[in-house]
Amino acid sequence: MQKKDSVILMDENGKRRDGRAPGDLRPIHIEANVLSNASGSCYLEWGGNKLLVAVHGPREAQPRHLQDQTKAIIQCRYNMAAFSVGERKRPGPDRRSTEISKVLSEALDAAVFTQRFPRATIDVYIEVLEASAGTRCAGLTAASVALADAGIPMRDMVAAVAAGKVGDTVVLDLDKEEDNHGTADLPMAILPRTGEIVLLQMDGHLTADELDRAQTMAIEGCLEINRQQVEALKKCYQSDDNGADNAGYADSDGGDADTAGYDDSDDGATDNAGSDDSDGGDADNAGSADVDADNAGSDDSDDDDADNNEHEADEKIDDDPQVTETFGSGGLDPNVSLFDEKEGDE
Ligand code: ADP
Repeated sequence: MQKKDSVILMDENGKRRDGRAPGDLRPIHIEANVLSNASGSCYLEWGGNKLLVAVHGPREAQPRHLQDQTKAIIQCRYNMAAFSVGERKRPGPDRRSTEISKVLSEALDAAVFTQRFPRATIDVYIEVLEASAGTRCAGLTAASVALADAGIPMRDMVAAVAAGKVGDTVVLDLDKEEDNHGTADLPMAILPRTGEIVLLQMDGHLTADELDRAQTMAIEGCLEINRQQVEALKKCYQSDDNGADNAGYADSDGGDADTAGYDDSDDGATDNAGSDDSDGGDADNAGSADVDADNAGSDDSDDDDADNNEHEADEKIDDDPQVTETFGSGGLDPNVSLFDEKEGDE
């Protein structure tokens, strides 16, 4: 076994093995809407990681004992492919993937308006094709883009990154060597609009001061990652003619395309679901408008009349006949039960 101090992780100029400064992220590439059969999807490359995420649903949760009468459940399945690491990984679930699936489900649950879909499940499949440290954060980041792509109403997209410690230095976004030979790893996920922490784990040892610095670094990293998530969705839904957009992720200022949940309309109004706005000639999307209009518990810099209360926002959206008609990219109607009542009573 290799001794910890036999690997040089930081040179005398404070640069890491790949030339990054302590606060730098590895290169990230995000693509939304890459699978045609899924409700939403995302492909993400991040350093040496490659992941594919697909979202399915909302659909009726089965078996029935899983159903929550008040909200949808988020069922995340994190899976590392057998070929994702140097030595073949034994296929199938193990303790690590079960733990990661659980914490990622809980993090996404904090972002999604699950109360809109009682008794439903929203399935999130995270397939790690190549793993090189930071896969749970990469999975969470990609899952949020896939959920937005599926038109699932969210407070915000979750952005995640790990900070940690190599030698005596607190660093952001550990690569495989740093993860193996470093002294601490702190995966963290936030809702960028509010700064709410939805995932925080720690492996190793940090002093209180180092923990503080690692958290600050991770939050800055998450904000940058969130910008890239938004860009990926914009790129995906940007139309050739800057007019009506592909899947309804459009803005209302007549210019470029919007992203899911990041409608930058200046009018403060809830956008229509999948139909053209008469005011601007752009098509807006219920999923994207929802996230923006709801904005529960956070300030919205775009909209003067942004809601700070989920319930109020729900009412506002439910009152919009067009939104009710074709809610979400999957044509979901928040006022209509997804399931047959009779069947449920049996
Ligand atoms: P994360 O990927 O979120 O950092 P871990 O800290 O548990 O999660 O894992 C760090 C890295 O270790 C993974 O990204 C992967 O490259 C490697 N790894 C994890 N599990 C296995 C495994 N069963 N076999 C080989 N390598 C693994």
